[in-house]
Amino acid sequence: MTSRKSDVPIPKLAGVCGWPIHHSLSPVLHNYWLKAAGISGAYIPFAVRPDNAVAAFQSLKYTSISGVNVTLPLKRQAFLAADDHTPDALKLGVSNCLFKRDGKLIGHNTDLEGFATPLLSKIAASELSQSSVLLIGAGGASRAVIGALLSLNVPEIKIANRTDSKAESLAESVNLPSLYAVPWESRNAAVASSQVIINASSAGMSGYSDLDLDLETARPGTLVYDLIYTPRRTGLLKEAERRGCETLGGLSMLIEQARPSFRHFFGEAPPKDLDPTETLYAALKSGVR
Ligand code: NAP
Repeated sequence: MTSRKSDVPIPKLAGVCGWPIHHSLSPVLHNYWLKAAGISGAYIPFAVRPDNAVAAFQSLKYTSISGVNVTLPLKRQAFLAADDHTPDALKLGVSNCLFKRDGKLIGHNTDLEGFATPLLSKIAASELSQSSVLLIGAGGASRAVIGALLSLNVPEIKIANRTDSKAESLAESVNLPSLYAVPWESRNAAVASSQVIINASSAGMSGYSDLDLDLETARPGTLVYDLIYTPRRTGLLKEAERRGCETLGGLSMLIEQARPSFRHFFGEAPPKDLDPTETLYAALKSGVR
């Protein structure tokens, strides 16, 4: 007996929203996992105008789209559009993932998990809870880093930003004695006392100059985590390697923040045994997404 048309399952559809969106690597990553897992579905980029973003996100409930990731500059609108929020989204007040549950639109944020998972592959939680961290940058990425570090009970977080006033207001907004701003001109002096150094600034990205940070006093074994993934190894990571530091690049964060989204959209975790790193770098190199 032939099945009726209505019995044929609709392929699962998800995507990433931004303005602009053509540069996003997320479609390459999610479609790689979909193919590997043999799931009938697709993940595509959606350009969403910022002035209508809240309405666009709310309309997801009336479509067969399972959910979307959200990137700059729409993460706050995504949060505002949601009916309910996960604890990680509430911590940051922005959402990079919207999915549907029981007819409601849920605002989630996977950046905390995405940042923390690679970090914990390099340093034990028990060690982190006794570490001093130097964080460079005070933009959107730094907020997610701070949220994750606080959840991991890091006892001291020093924020240095090229524009001192932004580091100061970020520290004030958190309002904890363990987290404070260090003047930009004192950033090099803060290196020696730090077990973990994190670059969450744009300095070192392809097309930008390298981060101006002197690692001379960094102790061997210090972990230097650069959130940037283009280039693959930034000037900061190369210098850190020369000085015997442990290093971590930004692509693992990109991959780990995508995993929980994939699970929400397609109903199962992406294959754990497949490493998408080379596929992603090939896409970056060719410029094809
Ligand atoms: P953002 O909100 O625009 O903030 C940019 C930050 O970089 C600001 O603190 C800015 O300082 C600082 N900065 C820019 N140029 C600098 C320079 N030449 N020297 C020192 N500091 C400089 O950007 P964001 O969203 O936080 O992203 C920051 C970086 O993280 C980007 O490179 C992004 O690619 C990366 N990122 C990676 C992932 C991942 O999954 N791996 C996720 C998110 C972000 P001022 O305040 O002085 O302008």
